Amino acid sequence: MTTTTLIDRIGLLYTGDPEREEIADAALVIEDGLVAWTGPAAEAPAADERVDAGGRAVIPGFVDSHAHLIFAGDRTAEFEARMSGEPYTGGGIRTTVAATRAAGEAELATHAFSLVREMRAQGTTTVEIKSGYGLTVEHERRSLEIATTLTDETTFLGAHVVPADIDADSYVRLVAGEMLEACAPYAKWVDVFCERGAFDGDQTREILSAGLKAGLGARVHANQLGEGPGVRIACELGAASADHCTHLSAADVDALASSGTVATLLPGAEFSTRSPYPDARRLIDAGVTVALATDCNPGSSFTSSMAFCVALAVREMRMMPLEAIRAATYGGARALRRTDVGWLRRGARADLVVLDAPSYVHLAYRPGVPLVHQVFHGGLLL
Ligand SMILES: [Zn+2]
Repeated sequence: MTTTTLIDRIGLLYTGDPEREEIADAALVIEDGLVAWTGPAAEAPAADERVDAGGRAVIPGFVDSHAHLIFAGDRTAEFEARMSGEPYTGGGIRTTVAATRAAGEAELATHAFSLVREMRAQGTTTVEIKSGYGLTVEHERRSLEIATTLTDETTFLGAHVVPADIDADSYVRLVAGEMLEACAPYAKWVDVFCERGAFDGDQTREILSAGLKAGLGARVHANQLGEGPGVRIACELGAASADHCTHLSAADVDALASSGTVATLLPGAEFSTRSPYPDARRLIDAGVTVALATDCNPGSSFTSSMAFCVALAVREMRMMPLEAIRAATYGGARALRRTDVGWLRRGARADLVVLDAPSYVHLAYRPGVPLVHQVFHGGLLL
């Protein structure tokens, strides 16, 4: 026998469903881990159990579609140096690679799990996890195997940076060949850091194409530190997402607007590297689907808080609170090509957050304040 749960007296329900995005004085029914009903509280059907939201706002669980959680080591000193004026170049990735290779599997798994737990407590119910700090066949495979124990959204990022002990051409061949073959069984996605100092357009295309051929979906770290071919390659190859999108030409914006590729903005990276933020208004006004994610990683954005990213998006990127919450939920789901999460409509997974606030606007209005009252994951209270 299935049990139904009514979440009653919701002050404001942000459903994320474009057909009915917000409902005031709402209720929601959970059945078998899924959303069975949403609507005005006055019309709510009977249920076996009742949760009183006490006038609080409810939102879908955050979908963090870009995170690097399989690593060891600490880069506090690099952050301090950056805050004293040193620029960010991406070179510090190699520091984490050395620490990650030296770490045991249990240590990596325990650490990654603690970050996922930290995310869940802050309302994130879906997270994508990348490899990219192993950079050998065995170390990348190991990272992805750990990631599969934490999420279905695993991404092979062997092309994060060229390791110090190998030339670029040989490494690209390794990534697109033997490494991909070893990692593909543990990965849903393939990703490339397409940037000056990392991988150029031809190398990016070669690796992504090999990944697509192996049955993976594509996503790209694109146009973070300067303009480049990353965004256009992502759109051409039908990637689910082009991530960062900080430095875009008019052609890049057009390519995103006329493709199904989501622009995933990662303002934690700009915050933590003291860099200019992406122009979210330009993308939204052009009709591009925008996602927000943490880019949680030990170098350029060591935050696990989607609420912080929402606050940054509103304050620093001129997104309206509604646009920011949409990007952090529905947008993230689109970036992972998921229709079962990121919104609260009949049939979706009952992943939701009860906020200690009357509206999702408080996520930006009260930055840095812990506003998560309860988190439901697949209908279960965490
Ligand atoms: Zn990243």
